[in-house]
This record gives sequence, structure tokens and C-alpha cells, in this order.
Amino acid sequence: MKSGIHPVYADTTVTCACGNVLDVGSTKKDIRVEICSKCHPFFTGKQKLVDSAGRIERFRKKYEKFHEQQKKAAS
Ligand SMILES: [Zn+2]
Repeated sequence: MKSGIHPVYADTTVTCACGNVLDVGSTKKDIRVEICSKCHPFFTGKQKLVDSAGRIERFRKKYEKFHEQQKKAAS
């Protein structure tokens, strides 16, 4: 291996938002992810939505008024 041109490959940990920690080898340190094989619906078989940024809530709020207006227009 030629010296000086390779990034340092070392053991590090991947920390998921669900609390799962994985030991991996990488050139980066302390990797943080939002989803992993322990909590992804594909692996758990359960439908679970992690809405960390509150985007769904904002979307619903945005259209609340619209639906109210539609109801009023219909009656
Ligand atoms: Zn996870």
C-alpha cells in the first residue's frame, strides 16, 4: 500500500436515532443515522413513522383551513 494517499480506516460506531449502535469499519468517525436495520419498517415489519422535523404536523396545519372552507362551501 502506498503511504500518504489512503484515508485512515478505523473501527468506529454508527449511532442510530432509535438508540441502536453498530460497530463498523470506516474512514469517518462517530457516524449518526436516522434509521437502521433495527428500526426500519422493512426489517421490523411494522409501520412506524419517525417524523423528527414535524413535517406531517405542519402539512396538516397548512390544510386545516382549506378543509374548513370546503366544508362551509358545501353546506
Ligand atoms: Zn435505528
